[in-house]
Amino acid sequence: MPRPSRFRDVLRIGPVKVGTYFDRRGRDRHAAACTAPGCGFSADYPDRSAAELAARTHQCRP
Ligand SMILES: [Zn+2]
Repeated sequence: MPRPSRFRDVLRIGPVKVGTYFDRRGRDRHAAACTAPGCGFSADYPDRSAAELAARTHQCRP
């Protein structure tokens, strides 16, 4: 059974995507994940601004 994506307000900043979702406790969480091949960066933040900042300042590792 496919699980519907709970992400909303997905924003792309360079190779990094930022999305807002609800965690298991129903709180807003904000994820930043890099889509560049081989990078593998992803992190969760309690604030949207923190996630966007991380996305803007992210530098891919070789
Ligand atoms: Zn990256």
